Amino acid sequence: MADFAAAQAREDATVDLRSDTVTKPTDAMYDRILSAPLGDDGQDGDPTVQELEETTASLLGKEAALFVPSCTMANLLAIIVHTSRQKQLLAESQSHIYCSERGSATFTGAFYQAVDGHEGAMDLNLLEASLQGNYSYLSNGLIAIESSHNNAGGAVLPLAHMKSVQRMGAQFGVPIHLDGARMFNAAAALNVRPSEIAGYCDSAAVCLSKGLSAPVGALLVGRAEMIAKARAVRRMLGGQQRQAGIVAAAGLEAITGMRQRLAEDHRRAASFSRLLTEAVPTISTNTPQTNIVQVNVSRTGVAPDQWAIRLIQHGLLVRPWANGDLRCVFHRHIEDAEVKRAVDAFRLVYNDFQPSSQIR
Ligand SMILES: *Cc1c(COP(=O)(O)O)cnc(C)c1O
Repeated sequence: MADFAAAQAREDATVDLRSDTVTKPTDAMYDRILSAPLGDDGQDGDPTVQELEETTASLLGKEAALFVPSCTMANLLAIIVHTSRQKQLLAESQSHIYCSERGSATFTGAFYQAVDGHEGAMDLNLLEASLQGNYSYLSNGLIAIESSHNNAGGAVLPLAHMKSVQRMGAQFGVPIHLDGARMFNAAAALNVRPSEIAGYCDSAAVCLSKGLSAPVGALLVGRAEMIAKARAVRRMLGGQQRQAGIVAAAGLEAITGMRQRLAEDHRRAASFSRLLTEAVPTISTNTPQTNIVQVNVSRTGVAPDQWAIRLIQHGLLVRPWANGDLRCVFHRHIEDAEVKRAVDAFRLVYNDFQPSSQIR
């Protein structure tokens, strides 16, 4: 027991900024799990899963929703249902679908074409050129967009951009899918209803286990006919689960009770970025629009992975990223005290590296 307490104390001593996926379920989630009505989702249906699907569809202004184990599967199902083999999927070149999920091409048979962009938004001229035709004779099956954009430091797609993409999709008869793993962060940053963002897209994927603190789960939303097809494919992929209400209960709590606090994470990300660049002037950061801060350490002369190792010794976990960046993500377990401790950890490591010019 003493060992456990010691381990717990060590865990409490760590500030974990590696991702907003590290959050644990809330007490309200555990309560809801205990009282959730359950059924067999493969037979008559699980009432808690159904409630989560209906709640999410209505929140996003779509006809139907499908509960899936992960946002990766939600995106995969969208690609399979919207496109077919020998069609082309257009996605921003730094997007999660293109960078991290492209292996799904081995199942979808679609060709994944990257479109360069800025701050997560595809360049509209390049998108139009890709839609107009290409020498590969592939027809376009889907345009995928992402908001907030993970690799672009949590940047939010402006609604005017989404509207232009929607108009272009309609002009060329190509549907639009939103990888909205963090779309509730985007809605909070824009201060609009989630349905307004989803309204520019034919389908959307949302993740329950990122900033919303659910242990697992994601949803795909869209028209009823599309979701019915996705449901059949989910079965083929082995994504149909039985008393899934156990996890859907936590998801319901996530989607109804946890969106409201995301603005707090955004505020702390902004304050961390400001305090850190004041404390260590050779460090620069993005101006966070949501909960992700990309900390650039190039000018400190020390590599990101070395920074990450030294920060651990001061109780701070961050993730080395591309281009001299360390990624710091703000979430429910990070309060103002942790923001301050994170800044202190950076300052202490910097002092270790620069013994002659200590910053206090
Ligand atoms: C995390 C993430 C995913 C994948 O979500 P999982 O639930 O981990 O499969 C997809 N898209 C974006 C933008 C993400 O950040």
